[in-house]
Amino acid sequence: MAESGRLREHGPSTPDAPTVHNGPVDVQPCGHAAYAAGFRGCAHLVAEQPPDHYGRFTGVGLAYDGLCEACAKQDDPPVIALCVGCAERLDDCGDVVGWIGHPEIRHHDTDPGGTWTTADCAVEPLDDRCVAALPGGWLVLAEAGLVRVDGDGTSSFVAPVSLPVEPSDLRSADPPRPAVHTSADGRHAAVVTDFGRHGVVLDLVTGTPVLALDRGDYRYRHSSFPVAFAGVDRDAVVVAATDWNRLDAFDLTSGRLLTERVTAWSGDDPKPEHYLDYFHGALLLDPSGRWLLDDGWTWGPDGVTVVHDVAAWPGGDVHATEHGRELAVREVWDVPMAWLDERTAVLQPIGRPAVPGVEVHDVVDARRVTAFAGPVGRMWGHDGVLYVRAAAGLERWDPVAGARTGVVEGFAPNAHNPRTGRFAELAAGRLRTWTPAPPT
Ligand SMILES: [Zn+2]
Ligand SMILES: [Zn+2]
Repeated sequence: MAESGRLREHGPSTPDAPTVHNGPVDVQPCGHAAYAAGFRGCAHLVAEQPPDHYGRFTGVGLAYDGLCEACAKQDDPPVIALCVGCAERLDDCGDVVGWIGHPEIRHHDTDPGGTWTTADCAVEPLDDRCVAALPGGWLVLAEAGLVRVDGDGTSSFVAPVSLPVEPSDLRSADPPRPAVHTSADGRHAAVVTDFGRHGVVLDLVTGTPVLALDRGDYRYRHSSFPVAFAGVDRDAVVVAATDWNRLDAFDLTSGRLLTERVTAWSGDDPKPEHYLDYFHGALLLDPSGRWLLDDGWTWGPDGVTVVHDVAAWPGGDVHATEHGRELAVREVWDVPMAWLDERTAVLQPIGRPAVPGVEVHDVVDARRVTAFAGPVGRMWGHDGVLYVRAAAGLERWDPVAGARTGVVEGFAPNAHNPRTGRFAELAAGRLRTWTPAPPT
């Protein structure tokens, strides 16, 4: 587990900016002849073994001052600039155990514009995740089964859906709930039970089930069902969990398993080289179809977001999803995530202890590009812009400026079409769609 998930790792407001040291080394207020760290803390953090400490936000971006427990209880404790050595010791030895105050949330709102459609539509989705994009419309899981809803609100029945009943489990915080995923070409849909064990892939043209999904009986209650349709050119391939620690790819035309390999371990023999101690979670494929985000967890428990190179997988690297790369470790999982483009992933929330907001990761360079406070809720990326479903409406965020740039008031979409950019809200007998204006 490489990343500690602390905010300061990459600096608060200008993340990853290299520290440029010009001129002579000065004696810093901490008493050390060293370069300044650009970080302040109370004098009690200047120690060989700094204590756990609190972060008090300064109100500028995510910047904060470090305070020992006693100072954290005071209204306005004195802080001093620390040298790079003090800051490093703090990072290595002491943990941030809590936050005081609030980070800066930037709002630069303008009229979001965009194009609206509204139509009467009596189809009622079973749950929030039961609407998914189709070319030219939407697929809805309703009481009777899968229903196609066109842009003008007209509906046509596609197929009934039958899933094994998930046993009730009082220990689970998240009750099982249905969810629908569609392939980019609209040929296939997966209906799964999030926080459940089972799912099914259907051919939407024939209306028949083509693949039963089962992720085994171990700890499936703790994450959304891991399933995703593969990339644009491989519409007839689905990736899904077949065990708590195993993903597989299937060719839906033939039903053939594309990722044959051995992943099981009895626990007695020496651990196999590619054994994976990780519970897969919600999956999200980037627009190019190469990178697969995995919102799973490990014992601790910790939420561990991983990215898999699925292009390498059927191509010969059969254990590609056994050695995915870690992006972030947080206290939580099953949290909103989105792709801004084919290399930039956005994860909620920030760091540990969590700050409400997003981390932005470049998965190709394997680095956290930035983080900013504010976005909370289901989110989608489109044309490099982040859209977040919040209480007041659909928020538009500029991930470069780290600022909200508009709110589509009163609009709470259930689904997004990544090809057209269109959002759909199906509720109260009405289908409303909103499409952002193309970038200028
Ligand atoms: Zn102190
Ligand atoms: Zn120092």
